[in-house]
Amino acid sequence: DRKLRAQLYEVNALATKLYNHILMNHPAGAQGLSYLLERGLTKKTIAQFQLGYSPANGRDLVQFLRKRGFSVDLIVQAGLGLISSDGELFDRFRNRVMFPIADLQGRTIGFGARTLTGDDPKYINTQETPIFRKGNILYGYALARQGIRKTGKAVLLEGYMDVIALHQHGITHAIASLGTALTTEQAAILRRAVADEVILLYDGDSAGQKATQKSIEILRDMDIPIRVAQMPQDVDPDEAIRKQGVDAFRSDVLDKAVSALEYQLIQLTHKHPQHMTTDRIDYLRDAISILALEESSIEREAMAEWLSKTYAISLAALKDDLNTQVRLKS
Ligand code: ATP
Ligand code: MN
Ligand code: MN
Ligand code: MN
Repeated sequence: DRKLRAQLYEVNALATKLYNHILMNHPAGAQGLSYLLERGLTKKTIAQFQLGYSPANGRDLVQFLRKRGFSVDLIVQAGLGLISSDGELFDRFRNRVMFPIADLQGRTIGFGARTLTGDDPKYINTQETPIFRKGNILYGYALARQGIRKTGKAVLLEGYMDVIALHQHGITHAIASLGTALTTEQAAILRRAVADEVILLYDGDSAGQKATQKSIEILRDMDIPIRVAQMPQDVDPDEAIRKQGVDAFRSDVLDKAVSALEYQLIQLTHKHPQHMTTDRIDYLRDAISILALEESSIEREAMAEWLSKTYAISLAALKDDLNTQVRLKS
């Protein structure tokens, strides 16, 4: 109900403040602060994203919240506290860098928490609560809203640090779906917000490639225009921007984003490494089934011409097979 939700917002706001205060001012957060500074974040960025630290002792937050009058039950419901087997309330998050996750209006509704000690898992999140549903938030959205409106575009990334790094370097229309592929609720938010196109930019590993393919399908089903940018093997956007600087990142990555169709044809060459020689026919057969899924006949035609030139096959033959597939589909 409404009263419960209001209290959950309030307790999350207080937790955000305390974690941030500990990170910035307290010895218990010193390790977290030097970690973030070493990763290249400025204090201004840390303040903008309200990053924090959850101390190791495991009771600072719950004691602070109890003193402010919040009930044990509410603290547990908010995902900020747990009850031990001997009935004691203790902090859910311990010894981790805290990333507050905001709703579309910018209110904290939950947290992502990163270990510094190589613990597994690397990140843990607030569980689902009455105000925190992972499937319908986009990390960084409230801060990116202006940039998205101004450019008409959104850059969709995987992780917290990717969003933060891009914003710090002036690319302020960056948001993240937090790990896995997009949900239809997240896509619906993007459809309302983005006038021009969504640029997908996931990590340069197999998980990133899988998520890209999945997100392409979801965005296509919802008629959201997209382009796909690509990372070099085993690099993510945060690492790339730190290594090459923002100018090279813009020109080598963002400006080189290709259509979904082109991306899929490029991916297909990885499946058929001999696509120029012995696997040419198999490659073309798969390529045509991808082309057949493209709604725009202009795009289909353009890519058919490109395939015809690149693989030295007559356009007439390509179009013949393509038209058969398009007919089969409809
Ligand atoms: P870092 O740069 O801090 O090492 P990352 O963002 O590059 O982290 P990835 O492994 O690429 O980490 O994961 C991308 C995103 O997926 C994370 O930022 C986080 O939001 C989410 N994620 C990853 N692992 C988990 C997990 N075990 N539980 C929940 N979310 C996770
Ligand atoms: Mn990843
Ligand atoms: Mn990373
Ligand atoms: Mn990553």
